[in-house]
Amino acid sequence: MVDYTFIRRDLIKRQTSIEGTIVLTAPLRIGSGKSSFDPASIARDPILRNANGEPVIPGSSWKGIFRSTGERILSSNKNIEVCSGVGRDHCLNKRRLYDRFQQSIVNDVNEAIEIFWKYTCLNCKLFGTMSVVGIVRFLDSIPITYSIGIRTMVAISRTEGAAASKALVQVEYVEPGSKFTFRLIGNNLPNYAIGYLLTIMNSIHSGMTQVGGHKSRGFGFVKFERLKFTDIGVKKVGDEDIEVKDMNGTEGDGDKFFEAMKPFMEAFNNAKIPYPEK
Ligand SMILES: [Zn+2]
Repeated sequence: MVDYTFIRRDLIKRQTSIEGTIVLTAPLRIGSGKSSFDPASIARDPILRNANGEPVIPGSSWKGIFRSTGERILSSNKNIEVCSGVGRDHCLNKRRLYDRFQQSIVNDVNEAIEIFWKYTCLNCKLFGTMSVVGIVRFLDSIPITYSIGIRTMVAISRTEGAAASKALVQVEYVEPGSKFTFRLIGNNLPNYAIGYLLTIMNSIHSGMTQVGGHKSRGFGFVKFERLKFTDIGVKKVGDEDIEVKDMNGTEGDGDKFFEAMKPFMEAFNNAKIPYPEK
């Protein structure tokens, strides 16, 4: 009998949270998608702001960054199958199991759980897939201190039926030194999945992964400060999980924190992840 606790939502045996502060070490650009390019005048390309008019890094942006960074880590380091989660490239979709899965949710929940366990990758389980919400939740990052900068750049716009045109655009960004909140929460996470999330965070912290737009211009480098790990409940989830000592309450700035949390990252490196099956 397989232990499905990791993907079960009807019981909570463990609640884990990693929270801290994000410090920008380069300009950060999360666009609002409301830019207009007008060749006759200098357009403004605003950043995304919340209802208070402050810059925000939405939880959905974090989810996308974690998923794509994780995809790179899984496929290169661990050599296990992982889907991109983009468009139709989802595990259940690729295996033509999506309709059967949907039917079994209504008719036979046990079958649904078995299909989801066997035929989805770690990213689908953690970050969600098609109709299934992910196990990990990212809160919106709101500013603690910030300032806004503007840089004039050349934008190339392409309107249908017309040749590409170049226009100057004033790009807004959040200045280096600005600080934001950060928090992720997960239920029933195995130690190796916690280690996987920490490995992704460490990749962001060490500059291997950039956040937001204009990466080629050197935007999007951030560091983690004042991190805190909260971990309530059982300390091992699932048959394939690897034991890690209780580390609830561990705190520290980026480098020290990731050093302290190494046992989880080792659990990730050593775990034999039994899914997805072919
Ligand atoms: Zn997948």
